[in-house]
Amino acid sequence: MKALVFQNNNLELAQEHPIPDVGCNDALIKVIAAGICNTDLEIIKGYMNFSGIIGHEFVGRVIKSRDTRLCGKRVVGQINCGCGKCPLCIKGLDKHCPNRTVLGILGRNGAMAEYVCLPNKNLRLLPDNVSDLQAVFVEPLAAAYEILEQAAIKPDQSVLLLGDGKLGQLIAQVIRLAGCKLTAAGKHPEKLALLDACGIKTVILEQLDVDNRLYDIVIDASGSASGLKLALKHVSPCGKIILKTTTANKNEIDILNKIVIDEVTLIGSRCGPYPPAIKALAANLINVSPLVTSQYSLSQ
Ligand SMILES: [Zn+2]
Ligand SMILES: [Zn+2]
Repeated sequence: MKALVFQNNNLELAQEHPIPDVGCNDALIKVIAAGICNTDLEIIKGYMNFSGIIGHEFVGRVIKSRDTRLCGKRVVGQINCGCGKCPLCIKGLDKHCPNRTVLGILGRNGAMAEYVCLPNKNLRLLPDNVSDLQAVFVEPLAAAYEILEQAAIKPDQSVLLLGDGKLGQLIAQVIRLAGCKLTAAGKHPEKLALLDACGIKTVILEQLDVDNRLYDIVIDASGSASGLKLALKHVSPCGKIILKTTTANKNEIDILNKIVIDEVTLIGSRCGPYPPAIKALAANLINVSPLVTSQYSLSQ
């Protein structure tokens, strides 16, 4: 099969990559479409030391599985695959399993290929009214919903979102539904305009009041190692910072002192629940079409 493989610091289209072997609890999925995530761009700079087929945001159709409920169905997939046996897996924390593999990110071939393999239990069926293009956004949108699981955002709270990239855009739309006082800050006027159009207050990053420190919650989706430093400049004492940035760059350690002194709660945040993401897309509460700037064939 054709597959986009990152190996020895090199990204290449393999023409005859072997089709994945399917274990008795796994499904073989024919990939319909895959999204290009900032994490993919970091991976090809060296993030996670990954080597293999990249891609973790996908929609596909199950062509082989012993689970008859899945056969022939259009699905999306949770990307973390725990061992199922360790104490963390038994506690239901399989996304933190020390022995886990992660689709296209850690020890497991990803979805930028003709076929991909995932355990049956990772797959979620899609309703017909979620298009293929929408479905590619289920994984990042679920990551946006994870914020609501981790921080109960109240309507009277002020929230600053740093970053106007794809994940930032999805987070902004999800947080807006929570009904708080949201300001989204970014570097790109054309991307902020998309949020303006959804009725979200936006500001160009350089025009953000420095040391204002009025925000109860700051969400860093800047994708930059400097995002945490910037979040610390704007978060209220006793406020919360939610970090979404993953980067190949190493972060500075001394900023941790400031987190302790200001008693800021720092929340690491990663993958999230799929059901609210699928539901929101099905109900057209989230508009993803302006986020697709181009479409390419695998060979392209
Ligand atoms: Zn992603
Ligand atoms: Zn485990």
